Amino acid sequence: MGSNPFDLSGRIAVVTGANTGIGQAIAVALAEAGADVACVGRTPAEETVARIREIGRRAEIVSADLSTIEPVARVVDETVAKLGRLDILVNNAGIIRRADAVDFTEADWDAVVDTNLKSVFFLCQAAGRHMIASGGGRIINIASMLTFQGGIRVPSYTASKSGIGGLTKLLANEWAKHGVTVNAIAPGYIATNNTAALQADAARNAAIVDRIPAGRWGDPADLGGAAVFLASDAAAYVQGHILAVDGGWLAR
Ligand code: NAP
Repeated sequence: MGSNPFDLSGRIAVVTGANTGIGQAIAVALAEAGADVACVGRTPAEETVARIREIGRRAEIVSADLSTIEPVARVVDETVAKLGRLDILVNNAGIIRRADAVDFTEADWDAVVDTNLKSVFFLCQAAGRHMIASGGGRIINIASMLTFQGGIRVPSYTASKSGIGGLTKLLANEWAKHGVTVNAIAPGYIATNNTAALQADAARNAAIVDRIPAGRWGDPADLGGAAVFLASDAAAYVQGHILAVDGGWLAR
């Protein structure tokens, strides 16, 4: 590693949900900083892999449906088999279900909490075991404004993302002594598939944009710098932090 503390050359990253949206942008940003990337997800991240290879870094597809914890150990093993090691884990894959709290179903509760929280914990555990054994690593969980706020009509999503905040701090407390940092990025309103329904609703869209000090939706690429920072040596002493990248939403 050179004198640039943000240089990720020689590091191997795993990014879940890397085929689109925020996960794709973070995978590409890590590669631009020098990392090789295992692109994990249920839809093959062919476009992301092609973009990373164009940058001159290695990229591999690791197929996994993270709606259950069944694939988590294999995700780590396959990454190590294909790319040699594992230094950085970005838990980005996530889903949202919208309905009034009085009507919310058990199925919509379980689907979101299993994907957004349970699978995240057990993938952290699988990667953490590897990182502890190999002398350190970086874990970055994708949180939300609803790690801090209540939201509306998204009870399982709010529960899962609030849980991500606590889990990030717990893992930071347990693993700091092993050289593993565990932090989170809380995106504001980012234009992706996840928020397509909000963007399409003219009234909600106007209310959201009006409340964002930056005056616009975030672009997935807006998350890249925060991810590179938290993955890098520059953030070696940053632990259990939830970094908002939100155009000022929380400051308002
Ligand atoms: P997105 O475009 O819908 O992407 C979600 C990603 O997660 C996709 O790659 C998706 O794969 C993957 N995924 C979902 N369920 C999966 C499963 N069972 N197994 C494997 N992969 C799965 O959404 P996004 O906005 O980029 O969201 C990425 C993360 O940021 C999520 O955790 C989300 O909660 C969080 N976030 C987003 C915003 C925002 O404003 N967009 C704000 C705060 C937090 P498929 O393409 O196969 O479905």
